[in-house]
Amino acid sequence: MKVATFSMAGERRVGLVDEDARTIAPFDLSAEEAARGVVALIGRNGSGAPRTLSPLPLDSVAIEAPIPVPARNVFCIGKNYFEHAHEFARSGFDSSAGKGAVPEHPIIFSKVPEAVVAHGADVVIDPAVSTAIDYEAELAVIIGKGGRGIAKEDAYDHVWGYTIVNDVTARDLQGRYSQWLIGKSQDTFCPMGPWAVTRDDFDIERAAIRCFVNDEMRQNAQVSMLIFDVPTIIATLSQGITLKPGDVIATGTPVGVGIGFDPPKYLRGGDVVRVEVDGIGALQNRFVERGR
Ligand code: MG
Repeated sequence: MKVATFSMAGERRVGLVDEDARTIAPFDLSAEEAARGVVALIGRNGSGAPRTLSPLPLDSVAIEAPIPVPARNVFCIGKNYFEHAHEFARSGFDSSAGKGAVPEHPIIFSKVPEAVVAHGADVVIDPAVSTAIDYEAELAVIIGKGGRGIAKEDAYDHVWGYTIVNDVTARDLQGRYSQWLIGKSQDTFCPMGPWAVTRDDFDIERAAIRCFVNDEMRQNAQVSMLIFDVPTIIATLSQGITLKPGDVIATGTPVGVGIGFDPPKYLRGGDVVRVEVDGIGALQNRFVERGR
């Protein structure tokens, strides 16, 4: 099922999306439960999804990020597709490049929860801070069952579902500071959505991911091309960090980011970036310059 977080008359709700009918049916949840976004549906032991109320036209509600403010940082994997690892190593912005283009172990960083914005929200470019803003189309995993020391063969049992993240990056900051967090966590730099899809409804082996800037296709790859696959990522992260229900892990971006071009194609105010993942949907955001 496709599950969206949305707001209506100032109240946050969670609903079941029917893309064909263009409707969303709110789940019967308390305001307190719905405040957590789709996390409200995770871990409902045996009771399954709550009943749904009358469907509403999808266009009549304001879509929020599926998890509007994650309980902690969004985990992210860097350089996790071969061709992208090479384009990034060549770009001159890779402060980890001394260790080789293709990492031996997953590169793990995070984005602060407050950077998350919804499908349709503006992403703010602040030219006083960065003049090298880039997009990164990514499949993101939403953890359902928490755990520590999760074995690869059990990893998918811990996945509740999937969504899309645009891992927006200030390349100049990423290059200047050896830790990537500052270049990755600028306000509004984590568009997420438009909604989440439960694990049983997503075919990770067949799904393609694409990114368009102003309708020009820049990225197009199979998610199955990840260097470190989802079980490896979950096993690695959970070795000593207890994963929790509602944790989000962005799995990395394929070749075709702006710095892969010569000269680089950075984002400017007015640009519209759309990330599509087969079986999930399309996450679209406009980039605007601060103060304009
Ligand atoms: Mg990334």
